Amino acid sequence: MTDQERDPWLADTHTVFNQPPALEGYNSYEQDPALSEGVAREGAAWAHDDLTRYGALTGQREIIALGFDANASKPEFHTHDRFGHRIDEVRFHPAYHQLMGMALENGLHSRPWTTPGEGAHVARAAKYYLHSQVEAAHCCPVTMTFAAMPSIRKQPELEAIWGPKVTAEAYDSRNVPDSQKQAVTIGMAMTEKQGGSDVRANSTRAYPTGSGGPGEAYELVGHKWFVSAPMCDAFLVLAHAPGGLSCFLMPRWRPDGTKNPWQIQRLKNKMGNVANASSEAELRGALGWMIGEEGRGVPTIIEMVSMTRFDCMIGSSAGMRQAAAQALHHCRHRSAFGATLQDQPLMQNVLADLSLESEAALTMTLRLARSMDHQDDEHERLLARLLTPVGKYWICKRTANYAYESMECIGGSGVMEDCIMPRLLRESPVNAIWEGSGNVQCLDTLRALQKSPDSLDAFFTEAAQARGADPRFDRFLARLQNDFADTSDVQFRARNLVDRLALTMQASLLLRHAPAAVSDAFCAGRLEGNDGLNIGNLPAGIDARAIIDRSTPVVG
Ligand SMILES: Cc1cc2nc3c(=O)[nH]c(=O)nc-3n(C[C@H](O)[C@H](O)[C@H](O)COP(=O)(O)OP(=O)(O)OC[C@H]3O[C@@H](n4cnc5c(N)ncnc54)[C@H](O)[C@@H]3O)c2cc1C
Repeated sequence: MTDQERDPWLADTHTVFNQPPALEGYNSYEQDPALSEGVAREGAAWAHDDLTRYGALTGQREIIALGFDANASKPEFHTHDRFGHRIDEVRFHPAYHQLMGMALENGLHSRPWTTPGEGAHVARAAKYYLHSQVEAAHCCPVTMTFAAMPSIRKQPELEAIWGPKVTAEAYDSRNVPDSQKQAVTIGMAMTEKQGGSDVRANSTRAYPTGSGGPGEAYELVGHKWFVSAPMCDAFLVLAHAPGGLSCFLMPRWRPDGTKNPWQIQRLKNKMGNVANASSEAELRGALGWMIGEEGRGVPTIIEMVSMTRFDCMIGSSAGMRQAAAQALHHCRHRSAFGATLQDQPLMQNVLADLSLESEAALTMTLRLARSMDHQDDEHERLLARLLTPVGKYWICKRTANYAYESMECIGGSGVMEDCIMPRLLRESPVNAIWEGSGNVQCLDTLRALQKSPDSLDAFFTEAAQARGADPRFDRFLARLQNDFADTSDVQFRARNLVDRLALTMQASLLLRHAPAAVSDAFCAGRLEGNDGLNIGNLPAGIDARAIIDRSTPVVG
């Protein structure tokens, strides 16, 4: 007797079919040829085994679940303990701490500083790219800790105390003085209510407790409007000393073990970046030690900011890759109107275009990573100076629409919170806004051209290595070079110029390094007319199938 004969009310309404398996239990490194080829090309072939191990880890169901758990509830802020002592403690979901531990134990914040050399930044960028696809928000303190070292190194006596703990491959989340820890994390506090981009408008003051000057102690009084990851053990802070805007290292605790009077006012109520807390804070005579010269705060902290901008490129490239992987995977398994979605010509145009954009972003990011590994080479130094703002602007800005387009490939299920897409979409604008918003990156590009005109020569020398490979590229490059000769209204035109710098470099790199199907479609879709800047506008005749096959992750 069947169940239904036993109980006529037990109806078999449907069986589930035409749904994809979850994208988990796969190796996100091995299934990403653009990544593994880029790693080998840019000098980190030696990292292949470690990245293969990490790709297996970041593709695991349990690790992917940590990303969902860490975002399930917002961090909670506790001002005082039950006895009334001020504690300034933010409590996170345990999954946040697990992800932090995984990142720091794998040196995502430190390897290029502790083991520099050929491919160090490339290998670390690749690992960060895999890691950030699981969960992006907690990568904020990972990045800031990584990025702080070049600034801290400007003050050797502070580096001697803090350097070993900043770079230690361990995570200690306890709310205790740094003197009791072997591993610490670092944040940054620049932005104030009256000015974020324009930090010279900072009103926070720094008063020397003794003689003053580099490495000396000051008391900081003022407020900060955005301080992310406020449980970091110390922060790089900008404040006005008597000699001008200066940079300080401000720990959460004083050397005597008492709390530094640095008080969190409240947490920001963010639309995305949920797992990571961001705060507003007041400095009420908080002790900080000056890094670098008094009055040279911006050049000092810019060392940190350049690295965070680079990480924004990695993070947004990773966001694109994860979104594309989800879209490609879904369309490989889902059918409509008698054919799988990936075989429908119009969807092929969208999927191929998403794949191109993702590969172009990653390729440019890994090229910058190689520059970071060769800063003693003049060409690489000049190239990095321009490629950082150009890449940060372009890749981060392209990500928001990209996330939405990828979500649409999945249809209604892509909008549901048990899919990663809503998180990727909410996360997508953040990298474009913090660490210097879009216009600020364009203005920084112009500043680089003005202060170091050789950087434009280095950029075009690098790009011109693809000259002759495709006439569309040659024409695009020549037009752009010509347009730089005209300096009239250059600020008004800056976005257009920077857009085209980015496309030129991406096309050049793809022409030199990617399969012909990829570079041909990129030139066809991005360099001729403006239509190609919207996803799904690739002209007929490109090899969409080859592009889709290259970037589709295969599970099981
Ligand atoms: C989630 C999140 C976390 C953050 N965490 C931190 C943190 O940990 N530490 C920290 O210090 N800050 C942090 N910030 C602040 C962030 O860096 C600033 O919001 C950002 O630098 C922009 O500053 P602003 O908000 O004051 O905007 P504004 O400086 O007022 O800029 C507004 C707009 O004007 C544009 N603009 C500015 N100047 C010009 C110009 N001359 N010409 C043309 N356009 C211009 C900008 O590009 C921007 O689009 C965080 C922000 C967010 C959203």
